[in-house]
Amino acid sequence: MENEIGVRGKYAYSFPELGSVEIIKDPLIIVENDKIVSIGPYDQTKSSLAGHDIVGDKDADVLIPGLINTHTHAAMTLFRGIADDLPLMEWLEKYIWPMESHLTPDDIFHGARLAVLEMLRSGTTTANSMYWHPEKEAQAFVELGMRAIVGYPILHPIAEYKRDDMFVVKWHQSHNDLIRVALQPHAPYTVTNETYQVMHELLLEYNEKFEVPVLFHTHLAETKHEMEAIRNFAQEMDFQISEEITTPTQYLDSLGVLDQYTVAAHCVHTSKKDVETLRSRKVGVSINLVSNLKLASGIPPLVEYVSNNVKTSLGTDGASSNNRLDLFETTRLIALLYKGLHYSPTLLPISEAMYLATAGGANVLHMNNVGQLKEGFKADIVSLSLKTIEMQPIYHEKSALSHLVYIGERSHVKNVIVNGSLVIENTLPTKVAIDEILDSFKRTSTSLFERI
Ligand SMILES: [Zn+2]
Repeated sequence: MENEIGVRGKYAYSFPELGSVEIIKDPLIIVENDKIVSIGPYDQTKSSLAGHDIVGDKDADVLIPGLINTHTHAAMTLFRGIADDLPLMEWLEKYIWPMESHLTPDDIFHGARLAVLEMLRSGTTTANSMYWHPEKEAQAFVELGMRAIVGYPILHPIAEYKRDDMFVVKWHQSHNDLIRVALQPHAPYTVTNETYQVMHELLLEYNEKFEVPVLFHTHLAETKHEMEAIRNFAQEMDFQISEEITTPTQYLDSLGVLDQYTVAAHCVHTSKKDVETLRSRKVGVSINLVSNLKLASGIPPLVEYVSNNVKTSLGTDGASSNNRLDLFETTRLIALLYKGLHYSPTLLPISEAMYLATAGGANVLHMNNVGQLKEGFKADIVSLSLKTIEMQPIYHEKSALSHLVYIGERSHVKNVIVNGSLVIENTLPTKVAIDEILDSFKRTSTSLFERI
């Protein structure tokens, strides 16, 4: 068999449902090929260990399911730190879109590769990425061994919609289901009503055919003035929006394009009625708190989503609006911010914050065998080391669980397994040397900077 690994640690945690946590002391996870074939306390599972390579430290590693980033633009690492402290529209129109017009497919490959390495080393094993030349991003994900959903952004006037069955057939569920595809209308203020509907019809057509769904990934309700931007865009593009529609969510719902396949990034500005619409249409929401704070878009009503059973998950957004692709930071931040915002220390406890970063993300991305440490699930496993000053003391399994959210950060990530392959070993990528990634990124970004 290709991969036969026995993963050991001091504790293993999994967060199968909102608010629940499964804890195993002295765990052993047996991985064969791409799956977890058994998981339990070492004494009960060790009989199946013969012939497997052992990974991990039984005295100091914490094992968790890989984190799931439900909204990013991987190759935007190329624009990290190049335009900060600006509002969204100015940032997009004056800086990002003009610079993106200079990107080559090769730039995107190297930009995405850096992002993939950064995400893996932050304990993220799955990402949902919207970017140009998605086949180049897909190559980067495959090369380093990370799970991803990729797709072309459609946005007027830069990229008009063109049907591309070849791309979908080539990449959807490819590489042992490591890579999937999404149709990606950028946002309601850059995509016409008709294009949304045509893309959605195509989505339903694909989803009659494929075993696992192609998703519909869009930005939604990111800023306070988005409805105004949509009306201006409608005027420019010569289509009508009824006066009764007052929010971006109601607008997309009126087009009939919101359903269980939708991944809506941001959802910062939603009314009570919108929250009910997102719930009843089974839309998956991706909260990108750091990006929203940095661009001063507002604070998404995460607690309303969670308490109203809206499918909710976490994203980082791209590296030029975050600027870290670090879900540990996001998880800690949501666990802190909403408590303070609502004057309630019991809101978003550890088990809920970690659910949103793991199984909640898998639920939004329709990955029903990802996001938990469970027999039969894909082996996407992250270990963090407790051998650091700040992780002390560890009295029992609850201490290490607390440290995971309130202390844990990407520097604690030690080993990462995706689809059964050990892709980060002792903090280093196993498939491509770190210097080769950094050197080629430097060459690419220097040449891009000269062009712009
Ligand atoms: Zn975005």
